[in-house]
Amino acid sequence: MKRREEMTFSERLYLPEILKGLAITNYHFVRNFALNFAHLLGFAKARRASATVQYPEERKRYSDNYRGSHRLTIRPDNSVRCTACFLCATACPAQCIYIEAGEAEDPHIEKFPVRYEIDTLRCIYCGLCVEACPCDAIRMDTYVHPRIWGFDRKDFVETKEMLMHRSRVIAKDGREGNMNEMLAWYREQDARIYDPLRPELRNYTERALAKDYEEPDEPVNLPVIERHPARG
Ligand code: SF4
Ligand code: SF4
Repeated sequence: MKRREEMTFSERLYLPEILKGLAITNYHFVRNFALNFAHLLGFAKARRASATVQYPEERKRYSDNYRGSHRLTIRPDNSVRCTACFLCATACPAQCIYIEAGEAEDPHIEKFPVRYEIDTLRCIYCGLCVEACPCDAIRMDTYVHPRIWGFDRKDFVETKEMLMHRSRVIAKDGREGNMNEMLAWYREQDARIYDPLRPELRNYTERALAKDYEEPDEPVNLPVIERHPARG
């Protein structure tokens, strides 16, 4: 954003800028309206009407500083780099990291995480865990957004293996690897749920609406949430 002293006279008047913004909005409205109408009549099919990205069939490449998902880095011997020091869990403002430490076999390493879990429904993707880690064991450079894992809170808890897997995917398939794997997984879920008698359920995110999801009468067992009681 420009500071006031950097603005031109026309920008300081505001009205020309507002009119410019309205002109752009109206241009896209009229263009899309005309192109959609032409498409209905069978004309100009090659010209695309809407600028909206038709996710997941299409997607934009995330920027290099996008931080949408965690991974645990691994050592050359394929073991987890994390030493279970708990600094990330301590720094986490959402209290969504759960670690259980065990004694490492390597005498040079004191501990390793027997369990390392992130409750992605509680995570606010602030990156403080990455900042806090003294040994570069957790990163958020996976170029993928949080995954819809299921329809139960506990489905969204990512385990140590899941988090390490992302590092292996990046090493093997590069920066697009995790996103490609996630989209392939969504397509697999779509294919599984596809019911020719219920075409409205084709979309993965819609499958919760009718056939598969019922509100439980009793509260479900949520062990991960119970591990993080609210601060007193
Ligand atoms: S990104 Fe923030 S909220 Fe999420 S696990 Fe890390 S520290 Fe916690
Ligand atoms: S990820 Fe880093 S900060 Fe968190 S427990 Fe492991 S070594 Fe410590």
